[in-house]
Amino acid sequence: MKQSLLFAPTLRDMPKEAEVTSHKILLKGGYIKQSAAGVYSYLPLGYKIIKKIENIIREELDKIGCSELLMPALQSKDLWVESGRWEAYGKELMRLEDRHERSFCLGPTHEEVITSVVRDFISSYKKLPLALYQIQTKFRDEFRPRFGLMRGREFIMKDLYTFHANEEDLDVWYLKVRKAYQNILDRMDLHYRIVRADSGNIGGSSSEEFMILCDIGEDTIVYSDSSDFASNLELYDLKVGDPSPDGVGHILHAKGIEAGHIFKLGTKYSSPMKANFVDRDGVSKPIIMGCYGMGISRLLMAILEQHYRDEKAIWPKQVRPFDVHVLPLDKEETPNFMTALDLYKALKEKGIEVLFDDRTESAGVKFKDADLIGIRHRIVVGRRANEGIFEYKDIKEDITKEITLDELLTMDYKL
Ligand code: ATP
Ligand code: MG
Repeated sequence: MKQSLLFAPTLRDMPKEAEVTSHKILLKGGYIKQSAAGVYSYLPLGYKIIKKIENIIREELDKIGCSELLMPALQSKDLWVESGRWEAYGKELMRLEDRHERSFCLGPTHEEVITSVVRDFISSYKKLPLALYQIQTKFRDEFRPRFGLMRGREFIMKDLYTFHANEEDLDVWYLKVRKAYQNILDRMDLHYRIVRADSGNIGGSSSEEFMILCDIGEDTIVYSDSSDFASNLELYDLKVGDPSPDGVGHILHAKGIEAGHIFKLGTKYSSPMKANFVDRDGVSKPIIMGCYGMGISRLLMAILEQHYRDEKAIWPKQVRPFDVHVLPLDKEETPNFMTALDLYKALKEKGIEVLFDDRTESAGVKFKDADLIGIRHRIVVGRRANEGIFEYKDIKEDITKEITLDELLTMDYKL
């Protein structure tokens, strides 16, 4: 698309409120704009990446048999009283009243709603298992919103819930979702570690977190230097050098950003909310559940936190906003600009996602903005364009070279 129509309002100076590099780049590059503490607008560039993240998640979940639905953000108090969480959830729950003084909350998570949806339709083991997910805005009145999208008060989450007739089936699905999560994070070129975790406000018997390894992470991971043992520090108070609890090796520490959290809920919600089914043996039992969250807006920032160099973005290929960035150095209606426009059209016709910098800006501004947008393949249409020679820059490998039109037209931009 033409960059003049993109609306990526870049800033010249570093925003003062940003403490971490990914947040700086997102603000400076015009990906997001803060609206209130912990509340953001996703501008077109940021939203384009959000949609790519969402689609990767959709593809991997649909592949294992999950179905997407969309539940309301506005949830009635009655449901939360049924589960016992209206009191238990505390101040993080955003509560409100309607004009008839009926109480509601803005959903921080959806165990209550999904359980109430399913209980009215699933009465027999013949209808199980079932796996339902949504991608939706969540609300949590976090005590300390910080690091931009990392800890917001309004944020985008994918939440999946599974329903089973027995524990064995839950175990099978838990592992399927765990593998899907690995595929999702692998497709975003993330370095992460799966760790044992505290089930917190959501509850249930056991849970694991997917931690993106990063110095700015708020969580501390304790792990063995010689086995698979890895846990959130919340569960085991282990110091560096302590023997690992599994008897193999010694403990190291690392910082992590929690991207996802998967739980075996068991009957924590189905029992109090009376979501029962009649089993093969004719006996009525509470449905066994699992739940699986993934922070989509948090991922936007976490991906960038692992993919920048010198405060310049380098987006991984499956989430980058465009595949190629074409920059003419001369203004509109010059031969140089027309050559660039032809190149843009030719690449677009090949089905490549191209961003064409048609703006009336100096070369310096165009380069600075391109560094913030972070598209791997950059083509500069410069002085030698009239001879058919272009400048190609691979920002991932940090290589710049002169290249001919033929080479440009046959290059693999999906890399
Ligand atoms: P945290 O320990 O970071 O508060 P949590 O355990 O409360 O996370 P879950 O309730 O398991 O989080 O939510 C699922 C996912 O939603 C998390 O793994 C995280 O990626 C994302 N998430 C949770 N809280 C926030 C937030 N305030 N802002 C952005 N994303 C969030
Ligand atoms: Mg939390």
